[in-house]
Amino acid sequence: MFRSLCLSPVALLILVFLPVFASAQRSPFAVGTASAAPGQKATGYLEVPAVVDAATNIPVVVVNGAKPGPVLALVSGAHGTEYVSIIAVERLIADLDPATISGTVILIPLVNIASFEQKVPHVNPVDNKSMNRFYPGKPDGTQTDRASFLITKQVVDRCDYLIDYHGGDLDESLRPYAYWGPTGNPSQDGISKDMVLAFGLDHIIIWHDRPTDLAASRYLDNTASLRGKPSIVVEAGYAGSVEADDVALLVNGTLSTMRALKMLPGEPHYIENPVWLEKVVDVLSDGPGIWYPLVKRGSFAQAGMKLGYITDYFGKVILEPRAPEAGVILHVNAVPSLKKGDNIVDLGVVASRPPL
Ligand SMILES: [Zn+2]
Repeated sequence: MFRSLCLSPVALLILVFLPVFASAQRSPFAVGTASAAPGQKATGYLEVPAVVDAATNIPVVVVNGAKPGPVLALVSGAHGTEYVSIIAVERLIADLDPATISGTVILIPLVNIASFEQKVPHVNPVDNKSMNRFYPGKPDGTQTDRASFLITKQVVDRCDYLIDYHGGDLDESLRPYAYWGPTGNPSQDGISKDMVLAFGLDHIIIWHDRPTDLAASRYLDNTASLRGKPSIVVEAGYAGSVEADDVALLVNGTLSTMRALKMLPGEPHYIENPVWLEKVVDVLSDGPGIWYPLVKRGSFAQAGMKLGYITDYFGKVILEPRAPEAGVILHVNAVPSLKKGDNIVDLGVVASRPPL
């Protein structure tokens, strides 16, 4: 069998230079107007044309690694005032070095530019729609529909893995957590679970009962999951703040996940024994009024615990919302303003056992 190892000088040359040839043969990777050759970083825009309302240009960065590998999409700012998530992706744009990366990273730091510039929480002020509810989008709808359509075609369809970044909005005092949405496909769910554990946030919501219709997938990560791409959602930051610790959670979590996906050298840091949450219970306001919270984000509420009180504009207590179930307080309404139907508190119900 030794004979088969006796290679001709030409064959040896090919073997030695094979990685170089493979790299040279890789073509530029383009998303929107951003096109990066292997080993390069490029900026550009997803150009959303004007139809029934205004056009918008969504910034996009392509970091094409020097070595081949998978495509990871990092998308932030669907809610343009969830600042920590946006600043974290901005940091990654600066820090990711194509020379060290195997594969390609698509970064979209700010989907909802009008929300960011006008400081409008929750929705795109152009059409008053949340930019994480209308996927997979459509080419002839309002701006949110068209932006979602372009992101589905240009980003979701072309990536292998996706991370969607969120956080507490201007009126939300939120503790950090992640969402993991199992699909029922064991190999895909194994990878997405590995991603969420490598990301390292210590509270993880198991997101069941999501839309299964490809044409009405609603959420960005669900749009990717339904198309067979392992994906997670991560949240950090609250109420307009940009604290270094929160930014670091998202930046370091991303780098650790990239190590788990073998896109960066080094070992990931997996969270051990995180708090798995099996559902989220929304506590909604019954009417307008002034909100006085009695609990803080991250604390634990027993079933029946008074979460705060609501007065009318004369100071008379009109409501005393209580926890319908025991759970971790994931977020508390951060401002006194309340209208009917507003989300006052989100409770994460601790799972009886970790997922298999
Ligand atoms: Zn959000």
